[in-house]
Amino acid sequence: MLKSTLDRIVRSHRNVTSSCSISISISSISGVPKEKVDCVVIGADVVGLAVARELALKGREVLVLDSAPTFSTSTSSRNSEVIHAGIYYPTHSLKPKFCVRGRYLLYKYCSHHNITHKQIGKLIVATGSSEIPDLHNLMHCGIQNGVDGLVMIWRVQKP
Ligand SMILES: Cc1cc2nc3c(=O)[nH]c(=O)nc-3n(C[C@H](O)[C@H](O)[C@H](O)COP(=O)(O)OP(=O)(O)OC[C@H]3O[C@@H](n4cnc5c(N)ncnc54)[C@H](O)[C@@H]3O)c2cc1C
Repeated sequence: MLKSTLDRIVRSHRNVTSSCSISISISSISGVPKEKVDCVVIGADVVGLAVARELALKGREVLVLDSAPTFSTSTSSRNSEVIHAGIYYPTHSLKPKFCVRGRYLLYKYCSHHNITHKQIGKLIVATGSSEIPDLHNLMHCGIQNGVDGLVMIWRVQKP
């Protein structure tokens, strides 16, 4: 039962990651299926698969396990698909650091692998003059976080 479950999981991940040479060996000792691999990654969605890929590219033998019957059935396949800029995160946390670097790497990866994407930018709008200081704070935070291309746009709408 365990072996067939592992076989099924491994087969599906071999398909996904065939270009990264993730492989495993399954042996049976005294009727009990045993796994012996360098690394086990639990969770076959975007973070787990990225970690597994990186390990495999460095020559490690990796087994990816997931409680779901196949990969990418969870949050990663149903999110808003936005590549965040890193404007909102508190400057002295790891989030802006990872977000700004990850954003750069993700655009590069998409271009390199011809993955369709659009870099359309984002408008953050003050709906009244009382919200303008918030815009300045966000601008300051974004600059501190290393987000490039931030521009303040002024437009006075006539009634
Ligand atoms: C509504 C929503 C919108 C979002 N929009 C965006 C966005 O626009 N841009 C963005 O960058 N991020 C967005 N996010 C955040 C982003 O989707 C997550 O940070 C990301 O998907 C997390 O990936 P993950 O691989 O860590 O986790 P998950 O995608 O949750 O995958 C976890 C995996 O682990 C498996 N698993 C869990 N428990 C076990 C267990 N005990 N044993 C074995 N396997 C297990 C699950 O089956 C699953 O395959 C959004 C999140 C939500 C909820």
